[in-house]
Amino acid sequence: MVKTAQDEELIFTGIPASPGIAVAPIHVIARGFSAPEIYEIPEGQVAEEQSRFRNAVDITKKQLSDLQNRLESLAGNSESEIFEAHVMLLEDKSLIDRVMSAIEKRQQNAEYAFYAVMQNFLEAMRRIPDAYLRERTADIEDVSQRVLRNFQIDEDSGHKAPDGTHILLAYDLSPSDTASMNRRHLLGFVTEQGSVNSHTAILARSFGIPAVVGLEVSVIQVTALTPAVIDGYSGKLILNPTPETLEKYAILAAEKQKQSNELDARKNEATETNDGRVITLSANIEFLEELHQVRESGAKGVGLYRTEFLLLNGNEMPDENEQEAAYQRVAKAVDGEIVIIRTLDAGGDKLPIEPLTEPEPNPFLGWRGIRVSLSRPAMFRDQLRAILRASAHGKLAVMFPLVSGLSELLRAREMLNRCMDELSSEGIAFNEKIPVGVMIEVPSAAVCADLLAPHVDFFSIGTNDLIQYTVAVDRVNPHVADLYRPTHPAVIRLIKRTVEAGESQGIWTGVCGEMAGDIRLTPLLLGLGVEELSVSPKTLPKVGQVIRSLNYGQCHALAENALRESRSQRILDMSLELAKRCYPDLLD
Ligand code: PEP
Ligand code: MG
Repeated sequence: MVKTAQDEELIFTGIPASPGIAVAPIHVIARGFSAPEIYEIPEGQVAEEQSRFRNAVDITKKQLSDLQNRLESLAGNSESEIFEAHVMLLEDKSLIDRVMSAIEKRQQNAEYAFYAVMQNFLEAMRRIPDAYLRERTADIEDVSQRVLRNFQIDEDSGHKAPDGTHILLAYDLSPSDTASMNRRHLLGFVTEQGSVNSHTAILARSFGIPAVVGLEVSVIQVTALTPAVIDGYSGKLILNPTPETLEKYAILAAEKQKQSNELDARKNEATETNDGRVITLSANIEFLEELHQVRESGAKGVGLYRTEFLLLNGNEMPDENEQEAAYQRVAKAVDGEIVIIRTLDAGGDKLPIEPLTEPEPNPFLGWRGIRVSLSRPAMFRDQLRAILRASAHGKLAVMFPLVSGLSELLRAREMLNRCMDELSSEGIAFNEKIPVGVMIEVPSAAVCADLLAPHVDFFSIGTNDLIQYTVAVDRVNPHVADLYRPTHPAVIRLIKRTVEAGESQGIWTGVCGEMAGDIRLTPLLLGLGVEELSVSPKTLPKVGQVIRSLNYGQCHALAENALRESRSQRILDMSLELAKRCYPDLLD
């Protein structure tokens, strides 16, 4: 158990996933069932809390035996035995004793002490390599949730709930958990699972809050409300920070703020290298609420609108009219600049469009991206019609995700042409010359980029996926995070190959994966011939300044040398060397 109550400073390391500093108490969300409210109790109230716990257990046992009787009369003995097992769990003396002593030791409310004990217990069970036991965890989660619902609340207790700002510490967060958080109170988050390129980390960067993932300690060992600091630059979680630590971070935060103000003052300057190569710098967005940030960032339009985040309101995409309104809003917000709408990219680690009857064994190799759209033509048609209709009112482009080869691209284009024919015959206006792009994020697409180029107006390289598929490293798995190398020779060769295929057929290539916002790698990407970078609005002013500090000739020479190198680390070092020479102050 991590001792946090003794005010001893403890530092844990994870993977830095979103820059920034946050200082606030910890909230903990573990797995399996939702966390109850947490508050401290005065010493004199321990016995009272313990009796609230006993009471909740008694109510639950009564409910369970009623349920057991009802089910027995309907379905017979064997079906109802499950409830007997649940009751037995609640009679387990060692479990009861552990909760009783947790209430006393933690001096926290009974619900929370119970929750923490059960989570510890469940975590231990999950680690036992026995399928039967692992399956039983669902039953225990179920009983635990039931007990939590049965706590009687004394409205007059006047307890102090932490309604202020906090740092969230969780086992894992899904993109939808992250997206639906109350952002007013959330100053940052730390997860045991996850990696830099998971969608949850991408969302943290777009919210502009610090995040650390792949933490080296089990979250359940940390006591809620412990004062903490997250250092999103170096990937640290510091519990019970000392006054010296707090002082150190206050100084760092002030320095970063000063730098950010200076960059903001230059955000509207041209994004051109010092020898005149113009780079389009655009923004990635997930939510319409981010549009004001896009405007404030000085972006040249939107290089990637991840429309799958429209799914957050349910399992279905909004209808054609609602989507059209959303796309028009984006177009209007960027004031005549281009907006690249990526068609739905559901699946993988993102939201599914429909509950699958069986979980996919390999979601990243399964039903996601363009595959989903092509197999749901009515839904795809709604989206394409919405994009086309909105294209009459703003400068829109459409882009297809996760295309693995020509036949998928041609099928998607065919659907687009059909939608154009329909709209023409209905007399509805749209841009007949709407630019069409394809994401290059599957190695087969990069290798065959010359075959795809004649059918599109641009390429946008999705390095998050391109890297994971090229080096066979799951982008969200912290255990293999060190193998996820953007500068792997295979990755940079695929980028080069794509750029060349595009150039030879007169189309531009951009990068909209997270690599585009990694300023250690900007010299390399520019040198490889990339003409557009699409990054989160928060990082955009910094990337703009980086571009202005670089010399394209030098970047080109660097890339030529990098393409001859065999080691990822060496390629990273080469790019970093040039970065340090040109913009030492901007590197974290
Ligand atoms: C990518 O794969 O690089 C990309 C931009 O798409 P997403 O992160 O949404 O999968
Ligand atoms: Mg992708």
